[in-house]
Amino acid sequence: MAQFTVVCPVCSSELTLNPRRLLVRFDAGTATSGEVLFCCLSCRAASTVPLAVHEIALLLSAGVTHLSLSEPVVGHPESPPAGPPLTHDDLLDLHAALSGDSWFERIGASGA
Ligand SMILES: [Zn+2]
Repeated sequence: MAQFTVVCPVCSSELTLNPRRLLVRFDAGTATSGEVLFCCLSCRAASTVPLAVHEIALLLSAGVTHLSLSEPVVGHPESPPAGPPLTHDDLLDLHAALSGDSWFERIGASGA
C-alpha cells in the first residue's frame, strides 16, 4: 500500500500515513487546487496542507478518499441578508400570531 509523507503544520512532525488516514478536498469546478486533511499522530490536531494539482492527482490515483467542494464562504456577521428590514410592526404581528395555542396548527394548515 502506498504511503505519503506530510508535515504537521501544528507541531512540525513528519508523518508517514497510508491513504486511509488522508482526505483530499479539491476545488469544485476548477480542480486546480486543494488540500489534504489528516489527524496528526503526534499532537492529534486535525490539520490541512495545501496541495498542487499534481499532488492531488497522485493522491487520488492511490485511492485517497476525496471531496469536491468549494472553499467555505463565511459571511461577515454585520452584512445583513437581502430583503426588507424587520420593523416594529413586523415584530408586533409576529407576537400577535404566536399568542394563543393554535399558532402551530395555523402554520401547518398554510403549508409553510
Ligand atoms: Zn502535529
